[in-house]
Amino acid sequence: MTESLARAEALIASIPDYPTPGVLFRDILPLLADADALRTVTTELISPFAGEFDVVAGVEARGFLLAGCAAIAAGVGLVPIRKAGKLPRPSEAVDYSLEYGTATLEIQSDIAPGSRVLLIDDVLATGGTLAAAIELVKRIGATPAGVSVLLEIESLGGRSKLKSLSTHTVFADR
Ligand code: AMP
Repeated sequence: MTESLARAEALIASIPDYPTPGVLFRDILPLLADADALRTVTTELISPFAGEFDVVAGVEARGFLLAGCAAIAAGVGLVPIRKAGKLPRPSEAVDYSLEYGTATLEIQSDIAPGSRVLLIDDVLATGGTLAAAIELVKRIGATPAGVSVLLEIESLGGRSKLKSLSTHTVFADR
């Protein structure tokens, strides 16, 4: 790992018992606040997929921030994948399981059918969120090109829910 990446990783804060007891919340906001770290991880998120995507999709809410940086760096457009009830025009919806209960993600059809989409989020935990996001991309006739996340919590095994889709993580929490 380069010195810049190690510095960026050290800026991710770990908050015990947030938002509920037993969860170790990984807070990327200190990393986002650092210009060098933000530039370094943006490059790392997109470089394994160079030439393989036409648009990025970011998952609400912290995925939006990373996807915005990635879109500008890669010179492509951005599609937000939103929590339920936030999109003003007709959208596709997919329900998925959380640790307790279910949630819904939605997407509008604002990109050309067949567009190759790189999905971006901050943390890959159980994989339910990104699996739902992949399904949404398919529902609007686009093609998932890969998944890129800043931090994977490997012990939760979320990668297995992303099936054969190429999945890249900048940092791994082992
Ligand atoms: P999952 O669907 O379990 O893979 O959860 C991934 C989503 O929940 C991502 O959008 C993350 O922002 C958020 N998330 C899950 N676990 C954590 C964690 N330990 N720290 C920060 N965010 C998390």
